[in-house]
Amino acid sequence: MRVFFAALGTETNTFSPLPTSLASFKDRDYYPAGTHPDKPTFLSGPLHVLRERCAELGWELAQGLIAAAQPSGITTRVAYETLRDELLSDLIKAMPVDMVILGMHGAMVAEGYDDCEGDILERVRACVGSGVVVGAELDLHAHLSAQMVKQADMLVLYKEYPHTDILARAAELIELCIEKYQNKIQPVAALVDCQMIVPIHTTREPGASLVKRLQSFEGKNGILSVSVAHGFATGDVPEMGTKVLVYSDAEPAAAQALARQLADELIALREALMVPYRSIDQALDEALVAPQGPVVLADRADNPGSGAPGDATFVLQRLLERQIQQAALGPLWDPVAARIAFDAGVGSTLKLRLGGKIGPLSGAPIDVLCTVKALKREMSMTSLSGGLTPLGDCALVQAQGIEIVLTSNRNQAMNIDLFTQLGCDLMQKKMVIVKSAQHFYASFSTIAKQVIYVGGQGVATPDWKTLTYTKIRRPKWPLDA
Ligand SMILES: [Zn+2]
Repeated sequence: MRVFFAALGTETNTFSPLPTSLASFKDRDYYPAGTHPDKPTFLSGPLHVLRERCAELGWELAQGLIAAAQPSGITTRVAYETLRDELLSDLIKAMPVDMVILGMHGAMVAEGYDDCEGDILERVRACVGSGVVVGAELDLHAHLSAQMVKQADMLVLYKEYPHTDILARAAELIELCIEKYQNKIQPVAALVDCQMIVPIHTTREPGASLVKRLQSFEGKNGILSVSVAHGFATGDVPEMGTKVLVYSDAEPAAAQALARQLADELIALREALMVPYRSIDQALDEALVAPQGPVVLADRADNPGSGAPGDATFVLQRLLERQIQQAALGPLWDPVAARIAFDAGVGSTLKLRLGGKIGPLSGAPIDVLCTVKALKREMSMTSLSGGLTPLGDCALVQAQGIEIVLTSNRNQAMNIDLFTQLGCDLMQKKMVIVKSAQHFYASFSTIAKQVIYVGGQGVATPDWKTLTYTKIRRPKWPLDA
């Protein structure tokens, strides 16, 4: 018995001005066959489960390419085809195999490919044939396509947002694929499109109960697995949107009925699931009058986890104009300013030009007198699955009482250690502004007295009506009535 694992993906914001290149993968996660470390990276979840399960079962595990890029704009054709072909070549070298498990995001778009994961699964299936079990773990922000479902025996999506359940869902996927290999189950899928796009934060109601409800069906009455693809609104592809995927054990009608029922329940909840965004000034006003700090403000519109640059200055500009002190902000992606801070050294005071470099949706650069408080080369941040994600050379600078973390690699705020390892004491702050949509919540909620979600303009704006879509299927709520 021989299992093959590989991973390839990113989340593509088709409105982002930053192309995703081969270098973008090498900056984040690029591990040729057999070289992945023990700690989890972006899409390696199933590998860590497989290493344990294959050892227990005495099965052989062949590990192919594992590559993931920080979410950005459209992946170049050469980057996608090069990595896809490397993955397929690893698979062909590993054959014959009895099972293929893949780690993918589900919302990767490349030049000429609106559905990269559908393309990868189709080619994997063509290599191994219909008799080999093919399974994949996907992010819940996937554009879950009929092609992906058709080409795989089993797809399992994360259920939690923030994605704190990557390893738990990977374990479920692998157990189901083992049962399929052992002919104990015959998974059949039903996919229902809700004709809408909603964000589902599972840290509060009604999203938290929704996760429990999905799980309440699994393992009973022949239902094997239930997933909801929230979808990814800043991916302009035909398959974008919120969908329900149910697998039953050889009972297509049961899978279809449950998928339809859950889709109708989601549609009924959609108003309540929308995130209550504040404008920048509303958010600052609320944070200033909060009885206790720190209040955490999530700068959703410039979330690098959704493909935004992470160098937008709109919030920083208002902090400075309103002379708000006792604030911390990060990560602000500015490798040039970080480099200058390193050249100046800790303790020096100098004028820095911060952020606003990528385009109009990053705002104007800010020229401000800064003191360099701390520097760290090749800094990493703890990720949601407990691994480390690289931030490059990082500087903590202070401008008018605001401490700012400058990073050389783009990434969103996933853990408070992005501030604390530079000596920034978040408990002494009135407010902490993070570049993130929701992944910050898992770690920052441990220190936050209050959390405020900030909307506004940016490459990852939640104001989707301002985006010019050309490819998505309409109608789609809330863009259409
Ligand atoms: Zn996601």
